[in-house]
Amino acid sequence: MNFEYSNKSLKLQEQLNAFIAKHLLPVEKEVSSFLVNPENAWQRWPGLQALKQEAKAAGLWNLFLPKAYGDLSPGLTNLEYAPLAEIMGRILWSSEVFNCSPPDTGNMEVLAKYGTPAQQEKWLKPLLNGTIRSAFLMTEPDVASSDATNIETSIVADGNEYVIKGRKWWSSGAMDPNCKIAIVMGKTDFNAPRHVQQSMVLVPMDTPGLKIERPLSVFGYTDSPEGHAEILLDEVRVPKENLLLGEGRGFEIAQGRLGPGRIHHCMRLIGMAQRSLELMSQRVTQRTPFGRNLETYSSVRQDIAKSACEIEQTRLLVLSAADKMDKVGNKQAKDLIAMIKIVAPNMALNVIDRAIQIMGGKGVSSDTPLAHFYASARILRLADGPDEVHMSQLGKHVIKKYSNT
Ligand SMILES: Cc1cc2nc3c(=O)[nH]c(=O)nc-3n(C[C@H](O)[C@H](O)[C@H](O)COP(=O)(O)OP(=O)(O)OC[C@H]3O[C@@H](n4cnc5c(N)ncnc54)[C@H](O)[C@@H]3O)c2cc1C
Repeated sequence: MNFEYSNKSLKLQEQLNAFIAKHLLPVEKEVSSFLVNPENAWQRWPGLQALKQEAKAAGLWNLFLPKAYGDLSPGLTNLEYAPLAEIMGRILWSSEVFNCSPPDTGNMEVLAKYGTPAQQEKWLKPLLNGTIRSAFLMTEPDVASSDATNIETSIVADGNEYVIKGRKWWSSGAMDPNCKIAIVMGKTDFNAPRHVQQSMVLVPMDTPGLKIERPLSVFGYTDSPEGHAEILLDEVRVPKENLLLGEGRGFEIAQGRLGPGRIHHCMRLIGMAQRSLELMSQRVTQRTPFGRNLETYSSVRQDIAKSACEIEQTRLLVLSAADKMDKVGNKQAKDLIAMIKIVAPNMALNVIDRAIQIMGGKGVSSDTPLAHFYASARILRLADGPDEVHMSQLGKHVIKKYSNT
């Protein structure tokens, strides 16, 4: 295991930090206020497009994508990307500036890996260029979707078309007017063996029958402009060439999609936790309750020390997972991926909670990013698989590994 960053990654880290300091930090408060203002619901902050152009011109673009796409992606390994995602995680809305935001990243990887040349031309190209956005529709309100084999949306062949019927929710990104394409998971064969019933199809958001019924909020945050939608699929018809990979291959694609997606979330969570640690460390030098500076209280030092330890432990675990994914592939790294998916959100929640407590009332206000960090980190104990599902899988593998020794 060697966690030395390559020169390529180090150079990009320096460039990314400089770009954020110059272009994002000065407008951070303005953008964050714009995005939570209900009057601006589902609208993009007007300066976003210009920032994206600048980032693209600077080569800070599609950093997540392991394969190089001309000047549209530098083709970094997971280990090279990890510190960059951490830097982006420090500001909740920053990933889109660099075309590195979910769910587009996962969707681009699916299209890059499994899409036909025609699908790539039509949907991957504009996604890589950052001119459109996308959604991933797997979860359904009517079934326990942490078990993806439960989903009930039907995809039925009819001549040269598929007809899709079902209801989805928590479709992140779907509220964005710029969201033009959804990857929809459903079943093409309800009677096939459990893991080959599912398929994935590309559904343009303006297809008749696709109806956004309502936006959902997370602890009151709408996460505008992307949002999270409940969507009715009412006899939605798409041409058969919109199928990804093949009938019955949907579960396989879902598994392939979630590995990189999970590690990206964990990297960003480290950025959130690290920034929270820095904010609380600054605050304790500025407040003086009961005649003593806050930084001199033992409980405060312990909170800060515990946070520093936990962040570094998690960072190293994430780098270890990234390294293993690079060296032996996502499948072989599945236990480490499960570990980080369990550890990182819980670590971030602990650190952010300590920072909120140390900040006092300011910590829960919108004057710092902490409250929104907390809501965002909490989501990740559920999204991309709840903690319990990862623990169940990991526990099973560990028992199997050691039961016969
Ligand atoms: C903000 C947000 C964004 C999301 N974005 C997307 C998206 O873009 N696309 C998409 O398709 N989905 C998305 N999701 C959905 C998310 O992936 C699901 O909510 C998650 O997989 C859990 O499914 P469920 O809500 O149906 O919970 P259920 O399956 O009903 O599970 C409920 C609870 O049961 C418990 N449980 C489940 N299995 C086990 C087990 N094996 N052992 C013990 N306990 C267990 C867990 O505590 C779990 O939280 C998002 C969710 C949120 C909150």
